[in-house]
Amino acid sequence: MSDIIQLLPDSIANQIAAGEVVQRPASAVKELMENSIDAGATTIQLIVKEAGKTLIQVIDNGLGMSETDARMSLERHATSKIRKAEDLFTLQTKGFRGEALASIAAVSQMEMKTRLADQELGTWLVVEGSEVKKQEPVACEKGTSISVKNLFYNIPARRNFLKSNPVELKHIIDEFQRLALAHHDILFSFAQTDEVIYDLPAGKLSQRIVNIFGKSYQEQLAACQEETNLVKVTGYVGKPDFARKTRGEQFLFVNNRFIRSNYLHHAVMSAFENLLPENSFPFYVLFIDINPKHIDVNVHPTKTEIKFDDERAIYAVVRAAVRQAIGSHNLTPAMDFNADVNIISKLSQGLSQSNDIYFEERFSSPTRSSNQEHWEKLFEQSKNFATPQPEPQVLRFESSVNNASDDLIASAEEEKALVQLHQRYIMRQVRSGLMIVDQQLGHERILYEKFLNQLKTKSAESQQDLFPQPVTLSAADFALVLEMEQEISALGFRLEVFGKNTIVINGVPANLPAGSGKSLFEGLIEQFKINQSDLSIPLKENLARSLARRAGIKAGQKLVKEEMQALIDSLFACSTSNYSPDGLPTFFIFELRKIESYFNRQ
Ligand code: ADP
Ligand code: MG
Repeated sequence: MSDIIQLLPDSIANQIAAGEVVQRPASAVKELMENSIDAGATTIQLIVKEAGKTLIQVIDNGLGMSETDARMSLERHATSKIRKAEDLFTLQTKGFRGEALASIAAVSQMEMKTRLADQELGTWLVVEGSEVKKQEPVACEKGTSISVKNLFYNIPARRNFLKSNPVELKHIIDEFQRLALAHHDILFSFAQTDEVIYDLPAGKLSQRIVNIFGKSYQEQLAACQEETNLVKVTGYVGKPDFARKTRGEQFLFVNNRFIRSNYLHHAVMSAFENLLPENSFPFYVLFIDINPKHIDVNVHPTKTEIKFDDERAIYAVVRAAVRQAIGSHNLTPAMDFNADVNIISKLSQGLSQSNDIYFEERFSSPTRSSNQEHWEKLFEQSKNFATPQPEPQVLRFESSVNNASDDLIASAEEEKALVQLHQRYIMRQVRSGLMIVDQQLGHERILYEKFLNQLKTKSAESQQDLFPQPVTLSAADFALVLEMEQEISALGFRLEVFGKNTIVINGVPANLPAGSGKSLFEGLIEQFKINQSDLSIPLKENLARSLARRAGIKAGQKLVKEEMQALIDSLFACSTSNYSPDGLPTFFIFELRKIESYFNRQ
């Protein structure tokens, strides 16, 4: 029998590799821009058409490439950035795997013009699916310009898999922002067709932040700086009262590379402690500098996670840096936005303590408005929604509460005995003892089942918002909202696009607090994103959960007897009464026997 194993042709091997490196236009944008940064460019221009689907062009004024290098750059594992394995541990560049250009060239129609500073003519290459179609000398600017046209033109399945333009554009904006923040000394511009999205002159980090996120950030930034012999943390955090309901403006960089880390995010959040209003997220752009030997650099090219060998130490430094910053900014309210990070944080040395107290006082007593009439209506409604199907749900109670079903039917006498405990729990006498319901978790369960049902049947009613307010979102969130527009309206929101990244909420789900449209909507999107990053659940379920979380009664809210009664009734009419959507128990029964045992003398 003859041999049958053959090496794959390069074009196919590259296409396969491309699957890993290039998932969507944004990944190509990131790779091309990183190459420009590695090439020492001081000006980088990004131009896209149709969210990068038809064109991505990156023009830089960096080193450029010789004719041979230009050809070589398209080969897999061709890189100028490492020569030997040890180099991996002292890596200063963004790229090192030498895969990106080969991958992009395998799945697009690519054109490159590049010239070294000391050469008169540059090189012009036209490549289609890894095949070089043209190679000619050309008069061009110093540096490199690469155009990637019709990404995935030769892999229809991948192309069809791309999301809508707003969603793909959101991903590109995310990548662009991360690189622009990490390299504030480089001039960046970004245009889609003829519309300029960002125009960012080189400057200080604080200026870059303001140029990206808007003037209002100017007074809100507090500088961070903390250093140990292991690690240095610098950057800015937003003042607590500036925290947003929506996540997405939190940036962590390790050695100038954007990373995601729930653990270090937690370090920042814990520094803010109770300074933040509930469910809000502070703005931050933090840079962690650490000797590369303490981190694992050989991570997957598209992954943004990172491993440190002493994560806890880094946690502590990040936390300290942020604590100090938020202690200091209050002393320098009109912070000189042009001042250096160092000066601000020196100012704050030793003064953070007293300010912590100030903030604790300000934020620790949350004010909550309760609109009784509204909740009464809401309860009426949820009661109606939930009444049928009395039997099967009792079977689902877990062992300890298995015999509770009967007991939950309270006599008229017992019904009177409803007590709210610490504005968090509802206590009620049941036959086997004392039932304690967590009002927040219970109500979340009720609303979750209601919303899920509405998403399935599209039956939600909407009430007109009498004072519709425009909501301006980040480009990324705007794209997300457009993508989910159908589902959001199935929940009862009525949205209308109102200019760039802005929508107006004309209607909100019926029976939710009047006039709450804007904050409820923002909360919904925010919660949706959190769930999206933390859990992998289907879109509808996520929406139902998110809205239930945000619209539900919270701990700390005073309830009248009728409300408590209605909550309990609705909860036990749910198909799964005993767990919140997140799987936490909604109630607990303190058995009479147990209570007796506490008083038993033997
Ligand atoms: P890597 O960045 O991992 O080395 P790439 O495939 O992204 O791999 O790039 C291959 C090589 O092509 C780089 O090592 C670099 O030498 C060269 N190169 C790519 N883009 C540019 C650019 N914009 N300017 C100068 N050289 C570039
Ligand atoms: Mg690269």
